Amino acid sequence: MNFETVKQNLISRGYTVSCFETATEAADYLDAAIDQKTVGMGGSVTLGQMNIYDLLSAHNQVYNHARPAEGQTPGDIFPLAAQAQIYLSSVNGLAETGEIVNIDGNCNRISAICFGHEKVYLVVGKNKLAPDYDAALWRARNIAAPKNAKRLNKNTPCAKEADRCYNCQSPERICRALSVFWEKPRACAFEIVLIDEELGY
Ligand code: SF4
Repeated sequence: MNFETVKQNLISRGYTVSCFETATEAADYLDAAIDQKTVGMGGSVTLGQMNIYDLLSAHNQVYNHARPAEGQTPGDIFPLAAQAQIYLSSVNGLAETGEIVNIDGNCNRISAICFGHEKVYLVVGKNKLAPDYDAALWRARNIAAPKNAKRLNKNTPCAKEADRCYNCQSPERICRALSVFWEKPRACAFEIVLIDEELGY
């Protein structure tokens, strides 16, 4: 995939951008760039497929609520991840025009990517790209969220077929808040890591 358009639009909105052919190359890059830091992670299929937690845990203190240490609960991990020097996440939709869209249920991820770190890395497979903001929002609502609801075995109408959003009011609804970055948030450095492979939802 040619990332040139989205790369230039992200740079014009204040982000640093790096591009990789494969997830393995991107994982090696992150493993070299992040060393002796505290690192927070949100729930992310992309980062899981890249084995980022295990790679970084060998030489960083990584906080991931899906991997709590002995005696800790996910609730113990959320604030530690939110205060880490580095934070890693993927996105639910990336517009080629540069807007970044995320939907969250616990909202730990969308709050943590906004503020409070030295640097945030957003790791994005090519399947997350959409032509413009409306298409990125549609993708986040109708592709990413239903697939995540199905993966998490939620009792929601979208989880059966993961075919579309039904705008449910289920108690198990995973879509509870929307985050849109129009421009890079001011208070910390951001790097968008683009990967020419399909990763996550
Ligand atoms: S709002 Fe409900 S139906 Fe729509 S994607 Fe989220 S959980 Fe599924």
